[in-house]
Amino acid sequence: MIKEEIHKITSSLPDGVRLVAVSKYHPEEAIMEAYEAGQRVFGESHVQELQRKHEALPKDIEWHFIGHLQTNKVKYIAPYVSLIHAVDTPKLLAEISKQGLKFGRRIPCLLQLHVAQEETKFGFTPEEAEAFLQQGEWRQMTGAELQGIMCMATNTDDQEQIAREFEVARQFFLHARDTYFSGERRTESSPFCECSWGMSDDYPIAIQHGATLVRIGSMIFGQRIY
Ligand SMILES: *Cc1c(COP(=O)(O)O)cnc(C)c1O
Repeated sequence: MIKEEIHKITSSLPDGVRLVAVSKYHPEEAIMEAYEAGQRVFGESHVQELQRKHEALPKDIEWHFIGHLQTNKVKYIAPYVSLIHAVDTPKLLAEISKQGLKFGRRIPCLLQLHVAQEETKFGFTPEEAEAFLQQGEWRQMTGAELQGIMCMATNTDDQEQIAREFEVARQFFLHARDTYFSGERRTESSPFCECSWGMSDDYPIAIQHGATLVRIGSMIFGQRIY
């Protein structure tokens, strides 16, 4: 079942779009089933759970942290996390950088953009993100590397609204790339090139609006038990 879903989704993704299999709340056995189907990138949103799974599971898994990350917990995942999707404050980026330097790494990160109607979603508004990039202090945070933008659309059936929100994120990504990152020499390993949007219910729309990483959980693993 999990295997078939992985194959179905990955074979439907266009070139340049990668699947982050969101395994939060699902057991190690479920992850191994996806692993055996060839999946190597997994997304988690709780530090303790990620720690446990990282220790138990194969070392060639790329672990992405996709949820809201508390500053005081960065240190636990800093040695191994492959991408932190949801950097939502300057303070969090500073802490990621500090921990990255401590472990001799530049930890890949995405800025979370708040584009949804819901009050509860975290992230920078486009105006705040612009001000932050323009201010430039992030350039000194060399233990973290900004590789792109992440967002979540409003949880709604209105496909046009979802499309509009992803498009806001895409336009911001293009603007930020051309304004703040085009001066840097881009290499294979350090491009500002990632657009993380789209979940089980809206990932086809996300792909139409520039997603390079889709974060899909329940469609692969079934409903989560909270
Ligand atoms: C849980 C979660 C997902 C996956 O959601 P599904 O609807 O199960 O695909 C994606 N992104 C984030 C940030 C999440 O917390």
